[in-house]
Amino acid sequence: MRILISNDDGYLAPGINALAEALASVADIVVVAPDSNRSGASNSLSLDRPLSVQQASNGFYFVNGTPTDCVHVALTGMLDYRPDLIVSGINNGPNMGDDTLYSGTVAAATEGYLFGIPAIAFSQAEYGWTHIDAAARLARDIVLRRFDALSAPWLLNVNIPNLPYERLGAITATRLGRRHQAEPVIRALDPRGREIFWIGPPGATRDAGEGTDFHAVAQGQVSITPLQVDLTHKTQLAQLARDLA
Ligand code: MN
Repeated sequence: MRILISNDDGYLAPGINALAEALASVADIVVVAPDSNRSGASNSLSLDRPLSVQQASNGFYFVNGTPTDCVHVALTGMLDYRPDLIVSGINNGPNMGDDTLYSGTVAAATEGYLFGIPAIAFSQAEYGWTHIDAAARLARDIVLRRFDALSAPWLLNVNIPNLPYERLGAITATRLGRRHQAEPVIRALDPRGREIFWIGPPGATRDAGEGTDFHAVAQGQVSITPLQVDLTHKTQLAQLARDLA
């Protein structure tokens, strides 16, 4: 099995190191990741400048671009083979509910999925990398499951509680929960007295009920949500068609 690994925290992040180490024992891996932290990059492509790929001393490739750029360049020009699986992460912090729309971690996996390759995004539910080795071991368990029952390609979003391996709960199929709208921006003054804005924290959970990713992780379980990309609002499509008739 050949696996392409990327992330959004950058090629130096502990999460991608732990993931690459865990997967190297069960697959041929190649790491192509952003040169800096691009969390929140979503599915963005860099169209206003060229991209360059460099190799670090540990063999990882790093790109002056977004997570989506990394997977896109790897699949369409850099690699001389087609990977069997794309894996992204392990992210520093959760990617649940509405987070998945902003996430660069999920986006890297999504780019593989859009090219017809099965893909998995891995995130740790709390910031700070505690028990990252347990999360990496769990990620390897999930990669080895293969998911033959799913029609390929598939796109899985995995959130792992920051717990020792032995204390991780069941691997549970979930749907995305929902958040309230994000908190307001944080206002400040720059050193020259001009007003600046920092993007504020995400909203609190609005739908974190049973069956959601939020609920599973709160119980100490490992959440896996199968994702799709079609944003069409099916109900409103019919309503709109009637309205226009
Ligand atoms: Mn991140």
